[in-house]
Amino acid sequence: DKLLDTAWVVDWTRRSAAAVTESIEELNALDAAIGDGDHGTNLCRGLEAALAKLDAAAQAGDPPPTPGGALKAVATSLLATVGGASGPLLGTAYLRASRGGTLTELDAAAVAGLIEDACAGVEVRGRAEAGDKTMLDAWRPAAVAARSAADRGAGPAEVLAAAARAAAQGAQSTEPMTARKGRASYHGVHSQGHRDPGAQSTAILLEAACHAAGA
Ligand code: ADP
Ligand code: MG
Ligand code: MG
Repeated sequence: DKLLDTAWVVDWTRRSAAAVTESIEELNALDAAIGDGDHGTNLCRGLEAALAKLDAAAQAGDPPPTPGGALKAVATSLLATVGGASGPLLGTAYLRASRGGTLTELDAAAVAGLIEDACAGVEVRGRAEAGDKTMLDAWRPAAVAARSAADRGAGPAEVLAAAARAAAQGAQSTEPMTARKGRASYHGVHSQGHRDPGAQSTAILLEAACHAAGA
C-alpha cells in the first residue's frame, strides 16, 4: 500500500518510453492500417523528450517536488513534441492529471483521481464518445476500474493494476468498432477488424504506471 511520489512519475515515464520504444513497430503498424502509420514514432519521440526533461532536472538538483509537478513536465514535453492528433490529447490528459498539484504523496483515491482527470482531458480535447474507436475506449474503462478499486479499499499499486487491465480490455474492444473520430474515421466501416493504435498505447502507458508502482 505504498504511497506514490515524484519518483513514481519518473519511473512511470522511463518505463513508458522503454515500452513504447519496444512497441514502436506494432503501434506504427496498427496506425498504418487505419491511419498514417506514425503513432508509435510520435509517442516515442514525446516520451523520450519527457524523460530527458525529468532526468535533466534531477541532474541539475532541481527535480519537481511533487508528482503533479513531474506530470506537468511530461505534459508540456508531450504537447511540444508528439504532434498529430495524439499529442494534444495525451498532453491535455497529463496536464489534467497534474492538477492534484501540491500533494507530495498519492494514496489510492488520489491515484484514481489522477486517472479520471487524464480521461477527462482526453474527453474535453477530443470530444469523442465511448465506442468511437479512440484512445477514450481505453481511458474511460481504466478510470472507472481505478475508482471502483479505490472505493473497495485497494492500495495505489492495485488501483493502477485494475486500470491497466481495464485499458488492455478496452484496447481489445476497439477491434470490431467503426471509427468515428480522427484519421481512422476516413476508413468508415473498413476500420472494423483493426485495433485502435491510441487505445493500444494507452494500455501500454497504464501498464508502465502499474509496474512503476511495483505491481
Ligand atoms: P495522427 O492521426 O494525427 O497521425 P496519431 O497517429 O499519433 O495522430 O494518433 C492517432 C490516435 O489518436 C488514434 O488511434 C486515436 O486513438 C486518437 N484520436 C484521434 N482523434 C481522437 C479524438 N477526437 N478523441 C480521442 N482520441 C482520438
Ligand atoms: Mg497517425
Ligand atoms: Mg500523423
